[in-house]
Amino acid sequence: MSNITVCSRFRPLSSKEKINHGDNVCVHGIDAETFVFKDEKEEDFSFSFDRVFYEKSEQAEVYEFLALPIVRDAVNAINGTIITYGQTGAGKTYSMEGPSILECDEKKQGLLQRAANGLFECIKSTEGAVKHTIKLSMVEIYMEKVRDLFDLSKDNIQIKESRVQGIFLSGVTEIAISDPAEALQILSSGIANRAVGETQMNMASSRSHCIYIFTVQQELAKEKRVKCGKLVLVDLAGSEKVEKTGAEGRVLEEAKTINRSLSALGNVINALTCGSSGKANHIPYRDSKLTRILQDALGGNSRTALLCCCSPSSSDAPESLSTLRFGTRAQHIKASPRARCKEDYTKNHEASHATKYESRERILNKMRERMKLEDVKLLEELFILEGIFFDANSVEELEQAFEDVTMQTISSLHQAVEDLVCTTEELKRENKALKARLAAAERLNGLQTEAVENGNANVLQKISDLLSQFVSWVRSLSAFKMPK
Ligand code: ADP
Ligand code: MG
Repeated sequence: MSNITVCSRFRPLSSKEKINHGDNVCVHGIDAETFVFKDEKEEDFSFSFDRVFYEKSEQAEVYEFLALPIVRDAVNAINGTIITYGQTGAGKTYSMEGPSILECDEKKQGLLQRAANGLFECIKSTEGAVKHTIKLSMVEIYMEKVRDLFDLSKDNIQIKESRVQGIFLSGVTEIAISDPAEALQILSSGIANRAVGETQMNMASSRSHCIYIFTVQQELAKEKRVKCGKLVLVDLAGSEKVEKTGAEGRVLEEAKTINRSLSALGNVINALTCGSSGKANHIPYRDSKLTRILQDALGGNSRTALLCCCSPSSSDAPESLSTLRFGTRAQHIKASPRARCKEDYTKNHEASHATKYESRERILNKMRERMKLEDVKLLEELFILEGIFFDANSVEELEQAFEDVTMQTISSLHQAVEDLVCTTEELKRENKALKARLAAAERLNGLQTEAVENGNANVLQKISDLLSQFVSWVRSLSAFKMPK
């Protein structure tokens, strides 16, 4: 079983396809998981996926199999990503939005409308125990720039990574939504802001990757902390080859950028599936904005589902075959068990958080015993300001607090190192001066000893001289005859 749920979906033949190519289709279903695909040379290929949605499949079936488990997990703070992949016109946007995000009958509603409903239903069932907030962001990757679809002035959003949040979009607009109807209104305003340059809507929307992010925040009031789960839906740009579109000028540039980011996605999937076991393999997530944003979804920390959308028409067989092969490769992604990994992380994180929380309470209780309540409150505020206690109302604040404390620690360490260097220099100078004085003293001492030794020798010499004079004088006296 793969770590990523991979499904394929064949839309019904369009009237244009029927007119031009008749009822010929390239897919022959075997069962809900397997089909035979006939390529343009009438060669048969057998494919198996977690689920195959044929042309008569309902939108609800796709949602229930592919998205519902991920939606439920997002409410329990496990991140999830749902990606639609395929050539332009294969049914990616239809699967995401239905024929229209706002005006479509319930049966045709896509993953987005259903996910919005699903999130609110899930949080309703847990109401009372925790307070949930759902926020929505929408960005588009167009010409390798991340544009905020809720605030077009933010046309180059940076992708950042943190220990707490994983990959996130720095400064992206987040709109709080209170019910599914409001979510759809907001989604519709974002969709209207997509880079539209062509009269044909689906052509235009297929030239950028559109990313919808629902952030579900749980406030655990008793423990004074928040948990977040992200549900990310990605409507990828069309995967067709540039030659087939006959694109020129700006459109050609767009197509080349799309191809580059989709190739980057393919390369990441290859690297994830071809890595030799037990050896850390370089995964080129940073080769494109798309792969960087999807890093958590593909490499861990997220539950992921991929819907490979295909045209059933024989005339599109080469593109559909390439889409299906992409899906087959994705099935082999063996990243670290992502859902469990997230749970483990959350558990460890929670455990250390709980210990810190207990220590904090113990300290505060001790203080309450000895100080006035106002003083304790003031101190608590001060500690929060200093980053000693965290009182984060959101993941961003927690993240900011982490960054602040890290910066403070780094600058204190810098200061300490500088002080240490100054002290060492001073000590070296003192040491040098002392050594010089010691050397001088030693020299003086040597001279004095020498002087003393020299002095003694002189006296001895003098004595010896005097003695020898005395001896010669005595001898001369004895040689002299005394008169009787
Ligand atoms: P893409 O986003 O992949 O470029 P679209 O989702 O815009 O493609 O689909 C192209 C056309 O096919 C649209 O007119 C859409 O309404 C239609 N279509 C796609 N999938 C289905 C489906 N499952 N049932 C009915 N119509 C579909
Ligand atoms: Mg589309």
